[in-house]
Amino acid sequence: MSKISIHWFRNDLRVQDNPSLQFAAQNGSVTPIFILDTVNNTEKEFKLGEAGAWWLHHSLHSLNKSLDNKINCFTGDPIKIIGELISNNQVESFSWNRCYSPWEIKRDTLIKSLLKEKNINVKTFNGTLLWEPWEILKDDNTPYRVFSPFYRKGCLKKHSGPRKVINLDDVICSERLDSSKDVDSLNLLPKNSWKDKFKKYWNVGEKAAMEKYIHFRNNGLNGYKEGRNFPSQENVSVLSPHLHFGEISPHQIWYNDKSNCPEKDVGHFHSELGWREFSYYLIYHFPFMCSENLNKRFDKFPWSANKDFLKAWQMGNTGYPIVDAGMRQLWETGYMHNRVRMIVASFLVKNLLIDWRIGLEWFNDCLCDADLANNTASWQWTAGSGADAAPYFRIFNPILQGKKFDPEGLYTKKFVPELKNFPAKHLFAPWEANDSVFKDAGIEYGKDYPKPIVSIEESRDIALKAYDQIKG
Ligand SMILES: Cc1cc2nc3c(=O)[nH]c(=O)nc-3n(C[C@H](O)[C@H](O)[C@H](O)COP(=O)(O)OP(=O)(O)OC[C@H]3O[C@@H](n4cnc5c(N)ncnc54)[C@H](O)[C@@H]3O)c2cc1C
Repeated sequence: MSKISIHWFRNDLRVQDNPSLQFAAQNGSVTPIFILDTVNNTEKEFKLGEAGAWWLHHSLHSLNKSLDNKINCFTGDPIKIIGELISNNQVESFSWNRCYSPWEIKRDTLIKSLLKEKNINVKTFNGTLLWEPWEILKDDNTPYRVFSPFYRKGCLKKHSGPRKVINLDDVICSERLDSSKDVDSLNLLPKNSWKDKFKKYWNVGEKAAMEKYIHFRNNGLNGYKEGRNFPSQENVSVLSPHLHFGEISPHQIWYNDKSNCPEKDVGHFHSELGWREFSYYLIYHFPFMCSENLNKRFDKFPWSANKDFLKAWQMGNTGYPIVDAGMRQLWETGYMHNRVRMIVASFLVKNLLIDWRIGLEWFNDCLCDADLANNTASWQWTAGSGADAAPYFRIFNPILQGKKFDPEGLYTKKFVPELKNFPAKHLFAPWEANDSVFKDAGIEYGKDYPKPIVSIEESRDIALKAYDQIKG
């Protein structure tokens, strides 16, 4: 039996800049494996959502192609599957790039010690983050809770730069193991309409990720700092699902030459990658925050359980056009622009008073980029319960936000097509328009497009009173 070097693919579905793959390939051929873990991730909020599963299916196919169709897939409990792999094969080395979700850290720590007990050369690497969370601490050795000093003092100033990008020549893979399955057998494709619909919007895989990044660098990065707030402009990279699944690494982006773009835009774009680092940092240091309020005061918050409100929000039928456009973009494409994510999240937690965890769960199921760290940190930030959170009284007003960030209504009308003939002047507060405006736009108000499910002013007052109850 010949010896094999195993690289375990997880959220690093790429060949280039893959430190663990490089390690496994150093002595010859690699045995690449992927395991769909159906056992260790027990919390329903963290489960692989349907949109993410769609992405994973296509990403694994793309990776498999780059690996000469030699990827070995498994489903079940990695602890058991890896145990069997090492019993049935002569394993020379076993390596992976680290993951940072609490449940993954627990599982991987156990697997590492099992492999060590069996005298297997086991190595783990950083393939996902620019800075390891345990490397960045305040002077008193405690973790940062505020983004700016974390990024500026902790990451940029105090520490040497992120590791350099690793360029790999062709990786040679060993023949597939008899015990393994192919990608299709993982049954990842959702049963609903996303299965076919998402194809219209996305090219998945390592090559597509790099092409998208280059397109963004050449076209969208110039003007990013301001333009990133306007959902109809092409100033954001839309790289989030590629980054989540590791089809491109933050290192590849960080070090790529951007000298043709203004420094303020490049700096701002890098700081958004910094927010991604901060999210991972937070869930590493405060793992409980994935399901509990970071700020314990919010444990007593009087959340509402109004199912009709929740349904209206999920389906994009709240009567607030910018909110509805965002929720429908999510349902249609598996993505939502960041500005609109903040608006719809604020609307759910502050105008509808629905618990941020319920919003997180919906996002987790519908976003192709659903990411435990970014999703958790961002929802808690919006709810006011997280680190460096938006002050509770900062309640996004969907009317003003719409007018300011989608002034001509291009984004809103694209995803709420029944309002396509509505004048921009009244678009974000249709109730202010008189009957003739509706008539000219061909809309029967309340039938073709819903009236608001809550009043912004009243719901804001109720939210502030609810906050008064816990802030003392
Ligand atoms: C309620 C809410 C939930 C969110 N859930 C997720 C999620 O599940 N997965 C996810 O990747 N992002 C999430 N975000 C953060 C952000 O909205 C997305 O990362 C961003 O919109 C992705 O679009 P982009 O790739 O074009 O971003 P760009 O502006 O091009 O930024 C480049 C990359 O930086 C990172 N980034 C940008 N903004 C943020 C941010 N505010 N926080 C953390 N990282 C950021 C992302 O990896 C992004 O791909 C959430 C934000 C909110 C308000």
